[in-house]
Amino acid sequence: MKKKESERVKRDILNRFAKITKQAKKYDARAKKRLPGGETRNASYYKPYAAYMERGKGCQLYDCDGNKYIDFLNNYTSLIHGHAHPDIVKAAQEQLKKGTALCSPAMITYEHADLLCSRIPSVDMVRYCNSGTEATLFAIRAARAYTKKDMIIKMDGGYHGSHDLVEVNIIPGQRSKGIPEKHFEGPGIPKSTMRDVLVSPFNNLNALETLLKKYQGKVAGIILEPMIGSLGMIPPQPGYLKGVRKLCDKYKVILIFDEVITFRLSPGGFQAIADVEPDLTAMAKIIGGGFPVGAFGGKKEIMEPFDPTFPDGSRRMGHSGTFNGNNITMAAGLAALKAYNKAAVNRVNKLGDRLRSGFNEAFNTVGIKGHCTGLGSLTQVHWTDRKIISAKDSFQGMISAQDIPGLSHLDMMTRGIFSAPRGMYITSTPMTNKEIDKAVKAFTSSLETLKPYVAEVAPDLIA
Ligand code: PLP
Repeated sequence: MKKKESERVKRDILNRFAKITKQAKKYDARAKKRLPGGETRNASYYKPYAAYMERGKGCQLYDCDGNKYIDFLNNYTSLIHGHAHPDIVKAAQEQLKKGTALCSPAMITYEHADLLCSRIPSVDMVRYCNSGTEATLFAIRAARAYTKKDMIIKMDGGYHGSHDLVEVNIIPGQRSKGIPEKHFEGPGIPKSTMRDVLVSPFNNLNALETLLKKYQGKVAGIILEPMIGSLGMIPPQPGYLKGVRKLCDKYKVILIFDEVITFRLSPGGFQAIADVEPDLTAMAKIIGGGFPVGAFGGKKEIMEPFDPTFPDGSRRMGHSGTFNGNNITMAAGLAALKAYNKAAVNRVNKLGDRLRSGFNEAFNTVGIKGHCTGLGSLTQVHWTDRKIISAKDSFQGMISAQDIPGLSHLDMMTRGIFSAPRGMYITSTPMTNKEIDKAVKAFTSSLETLKPYVAEVAPDLIA
């Protein structure tokens, strides 16, 4: 049977998007000649082509076709203060005049480090790098060096950047029970990498202990986001993180929290909310004030071997990077962190709560089975009414929703709302209830537009 209604809805959304992005389409065609896919980052690609954002101010984005959007993506959670926050602009401009990277220690780096350490009790010492990818790479290396073991356990569906070791099961394995089967995300990673990576489902202490028992004495550390981020904003079940901590102590492995995304949830990161202290923490995104950044830190005894004068040469660790802790990032990051005080954290989290409850209500009102997960300023839309406990649950929801999330994303753009193509919505400090209510109104209308499409393509999702 021909699916007439769904074809009409899809055509209508694509036509409306094409109508407002004529210049972007031309740019995209040109860019493809020099940049694979017209892009330099897979996460900012979406079908049929991306709008070209030219300018941002506060929580607004402006594209090359003259469209204005409320930015609910915030460069994938990294811009806690939206765009061009006056304190950050001032700090960066003042630093710019003095030079960007002077190849020298700087007191501004110390100030940034001191602020991070004072906010996160588990972090005695910190080192900077230029991305979250590097932060998790070095945190893992530090755990291996400290324990003198090679194996690492990561979560099924956990994302920690793009270095070889963590390019395993970013998309979760599909085995129905127990330990997931492992796979690489793509070609180019040496097969030998797999030998040292173990994968456990999130929110499952039994599976984790099974691995720790089986590989006892071989595992250096466990790396996990305290709330799974890119694969669905999945909070930990009550007691889960404390259970992971206990298992790490029992089997003498290092606990690494990847707080690249979740650090924004409280002044001390998610670990303060969960009341669980990891041994090492990886950070990035908001701590750079909108500039490239990464940082890893933790217990003194694990971090000290990065000291070039560390007496035990066999334990001394290398760590360099031309732009590590560069002055611009440090100045902007410091301004961003100072402006992100307790009151700001609470406010931005409340905006997220309001968004989630508004979107959930929209699903109910329109009669589509869907719901939001997340916490505070971090929200993920799921096109299913099933409970989301693991990344596999989230991924299965995405698969059965087919291209509905993508169409929702485009349709929301035509209504002036910019989010992650996968349905992630992030609040920032320049937002007020007004922007949240606009997004909720747009989402409700968008669901109404999509309903005939959903009814034909994924009828199980009609309530
Ligand atoms: N860890 C987590 C949890 C992330 O979400 C990301 C990026 O999105 C990274 C690490 C990698 O950070 P970067 O993109 O700065 O390399």
